[in-house]
Amino acid sequence: MIVDLRSDTVTKPTPGMLDAMMHAEVGDDVFGEDPSIKKLENKCAHLLEMEAAVFCPSGTMTNQIGINVLTRPFDEVICYKGAHIYKYEGGGLAGNSHVSVRLLSGDRGRLSVEEIAANINSTDSHYPVTSVVALENTVVREAGSYYTLDQIKSVSEFSRPKGLKLHLDGARFFNALVETGDRSQDYGRFFDTVSICLSKGLGSPVGSVLVCKKELEPKVRRMRKAFGGGMRQSGFLAAAAIYALDHHVTRLKEDHVRAKELSKVLMKQSYVKSMMPVDTNIIIFELAPGVTTEKFLAKIGEHQIKALAFSQTEIRLVTHLDFDDRMLEKATDVFKRLSI
Ligand SMILES: *Cc1c(COP(=O)(O)O)cnc(C)c1O
Repeated sequence: MIVDLRSDTVTKPTPGMLDAMMHAEVGDDVFGEDPSIKKLENKCAHLLEMEAAVFCPSGTMTNQIGINVLTRPFDEVICYKGAHIYKYEGGGLAGNSHVSVRLLSGDRGRLSVEEIAANINSTDSHYPVTSVVALENTVVREAGSYYTLDQIKSVSEFSRPKGLKLHLDGARFFNALVETGDRSQDYGRFFDTVSICLSKGLGSPVGSVLVCKKELEPKVRRMRKAFGGGMRQSGFLAAAAIYALDHHVTRLKEDHVRAKELSKVLMKQSYVKSMMPVDTNIIIFELAPGVTTEKFLAKIGEHQIKALAFSQTEIRLVTHLDFDDRMLEKATDVFKRLSI
């Protein structure tokens, strides 16, 4: 039994999902003729009570398009210093949108009104034009910390009157919601663009959606085309995503419970120096001095357990749809007995 905890992207479609895909009604989506894609896009727009949604091949693409349609070259985007849009998208903001970034620490990646207020540039021509506040929920680099709707509301209500646009990287948006109990329908009004990954915890094989305001939709579709993200019979993927949204949202809580269980065991081990709080489905810990990530990964690899080196000294584990109680038992057992 292989236990793959590298990411929540490693899941395979379930039989129910495969069945939905096999029976999907499809058409050419570049011609706007794929009924399953239309259904998914409508569903996502409704889920956030926003007006439009556009299906894309990846969350990187939905983020990059989101920032692109909200900025002009030479603008500046405010985000957390470990934000996915900045740190893990191959320099896309610079290359695709020609914008600079203002990197904030946040409280475990969560930006506050005070920190944002202190980082909006004046109109003096020395400075780039601050135009977007980009939030991430949950924050991957901070082990899945999440915002409450009240925090989001205060950031949005402060930023909008200053002429700033708001983008949400909601790769793991539903992981946040199952913890806070907030409704997705209450989120949309605080943002201009929201990116949601369907291929993370939701367990769909491919794809993300960019949910947005109606007036942004033509621009979003144009940029998707320009970035090479227009697809043909992508309804097969939409069918998987619809199935995931119908069946795999509330169960995310299970992933959080298993992550907590794993973290409790890991925290007691001598090879773990420190661990970030575990709020959702991501565990990030620092290895004890002398224990390299290579050594740790090799050791657990001997037991068919896979994890990810998240920096030179940190390990990341992510729980997901294909990590069940049997695997949890195996992993905790191995972590307890591991001698490094
Ligand atoms: C995974 C992820 C994305 C998008 O990644 P893709 O692999 O391009 O789909 C965006 N933001 C965050 C926070 C992520 O974890």
